[in-house]
Amino acid sequence: MNFDLARHNMVVEQLERRGIRDPRVLEAMEWVPREEFVPYDLMDLAYEDRALPIGLEQTISQPYTVAYMCQEARIKADDKVLEIGTGSGYGAAVLSLLTREVHTVERIADLYRTARERLTAFGRGNVHTHLDDGTLGLPSEAPFDAILVTAGAESLPAAYQEQLADGGRLVIPIGPPASQQMIRLTRHGDQLTRDNLGSFGFVPLISDVARQ
Ligand code: SAH
Repeated sequence: MNFDLARHNMVVEQLERRGIRDPRVLEAMEWVPREEFVPYDLMDLAYEDRALPIGLEQTISQPYTVAYMCQEARIKADDKVLEIGTGSGYGAAVLSLLTREVHTVERIADLYRTARERLTAFGRGNVHTHLDDGTLGLPSEAPFDAILVTAGAESLPAAYQEQLADGGRLVIPIGPPASQQMIRLTRHGDQLTRDNLGSFGFVPLISDVARQ
């Protein structure tokens, strides 16, 4: 399989044609080898227009969803970015090309370890992986210029808004499992503006705090 060609076709057909316009996002999506972030036996499906299983009931998001979240979070080159839900590590790899510093949090140890290895192999030194419950954000590294939550929350966890820098953007799917609305909150001083970015299906954001 010619992965470079498949990746290029993915960028044109799944992203550009559906309205992803940010040239930096398109370039990053053209650069990251998605086939290296999926299970070995699913490599040939890496550029399909869908999420794929990565084990432990979790998924690597659809390419379009990754690109759309990055675009709508309006990530700039000198931003400090937080991703909740490392999963395969693919989203973090894309983010690492868009900005100077990325922190990504995963609650499942096996996924965390695999993603960490893949991100090391990918070779950008600016991604910091954390094994933790991301419903509390990452207070030790806050504030962030952008926070991307890649699992669906039933309601908006308070911690994320508090950890946004002035001008910072939070992009998060909210609602019942597999049928969420993607929301963008932008901080302007003490005020937050809210934009609705459409319907998406994500695996649930699971709070370990709430279960204790
Ligand atoms: N960004 C990922 C998509 C991962 S799917 C990628 O590019 O592959 C969502 C991930 O969120 C899953 O791996 C899941 O385990 C993780 N997750 C769910 N609840 C979480 C929480 N409270 N803290 C951290 N990670 C969480």
